[in-house]
Amino acid sequence: RGTMTVGELAKALHKDASEVIKKLLFLGVMATINQELDLDAIQLLASDYNVEVELKIPVEEDKFEQFEEHDEAEDLLGRPPVVTIMGHVDHGKTTLLDAIRKTNVTEGEAGGITQHIGAYQVEIHNKKITFLDTPGHAAFTSMRARGALVTDITIIVVAADDGVMPQTVEAINHAKAAKVPIIVAVNKVDKEGADPERIKQALTEYELVPEEWGGDTIFCNISAKQRIGLENLLDMILLVAEVQEFKANPNKRARGTVIEAELDKGKGPVARVLIQHGTLKVGDSFVAGVCFGRVRAMVNDRGKRLKEAGPSTPVEITGLTEVPQAGDPFIVFEDERKARSIAEKRAVTLRQSEMGANVRVTLDDLYKHI
Ligand code: GDP
Ligand code: MG
Repeated sequence: RGTMTVGELAKALHKDASEVIKKLLFLGVMATINQELDLDAIQLLASDYNVEVELKIPVEEDKFEQFEEHDEAEDLLGRPPVVTIMGHVDHGKTTLLDAIRKTNVTEGEAGGITQHIGAYQVEIHNKKITFLDTPGHAAFTSMRARGALVTDITIIVVAADDGVMPQTVEAINHAKAAKVPIIVAVNKVDKEGADPERIKQALTEYELVPEEWGGDTIFCNISAKQRIGLENLLDMILLVAEVQEFKANPNKRARGTVIEAELDKGKGPVARVLIQHGTLKVGDSFVAGVCFGRVRAMVNDRGKRLKEAGPSTPVEITGLTEVPQAGDPFIVFEDERKARSIAEKRAVTLRQSEMGANVRVTLDDLYKHI
């Protein structure tokens, strides 16, 4: 179905339209400048030019923007920052997530069974921090590709005995593209041969300059394994959060993002959701992606049953009819009937776009892939 004209494609490729028309002819596609090309033709041409085609499939209501309620400034209250840990493989992301989790168990919830719900909260100096522990890159990229930005702060872990590696750079680029503040955690400082200064030096090339060198990036030396410097790292997260003033209105119907979901043998479909706006309550009717449901039960990352959950709280909920996808938007509606009808409409739109009816090809950034 209609996607892009020959002229538009030529422009995106930084080529003359006449050249593109000739090329298409050579590939067996007859086309004029104003003709819309189908996906196959575009892909054929792109591969001939050695460029990648990025498909963007807009589901009309995907961001639920039409349901967005306006918040007055006085309705907005502080909320915990949501933090993602990224970095090169083996640089210590998992070890750091585990270490932080064990370091600060919220009082009163100690003894609860640790649940893997895709995210957890710790408390330090009476302030909460939410950590996403879904496999860093994959979650971050797929959610971002779908327009769901769930992260407030990114910690980029770099092993002091290794250095800046491809996935380090990738993580930096993702965070920058999303305009998410970066804190660099130089890990494994306990190791022989660890050279944190070398890491600092190397990262200046990516415009991550420490404060002592006139920049504004926070660097923390840590050992995730020996649990060195973790409290300082948490303090720095709170410092960044204070400067950024993350806020949300807790006094309205909840909205958030599905961070994980699966079919549980006993519980049926479960979704792990990060609440981003409003407060979710047991009994609320909601849409998650193209699924709908009514919150039957809700637990936090300590396995504690909750009646309600406010902004930046990760929860696991049951009461869905189907399993939604990671990155799906989550929104509460006034009643189940409304939720069901919205979910059904979204399912139709999604099916249509999967069949190609709404496919748009954006080639904006293509040139740099060549
Ligand atoms: P990930 O791939 O980034 O999740 O890295 P992991 O957390 O799995 O860590 C990779 C390896 O580095 C494991 O063997 C960890 O025990 C080790 N490691 C992680 N942090 C430290 C640290 O601070 N010091 C030392 N010596 N080893 C560490
Ligand atoms: Mg890991």
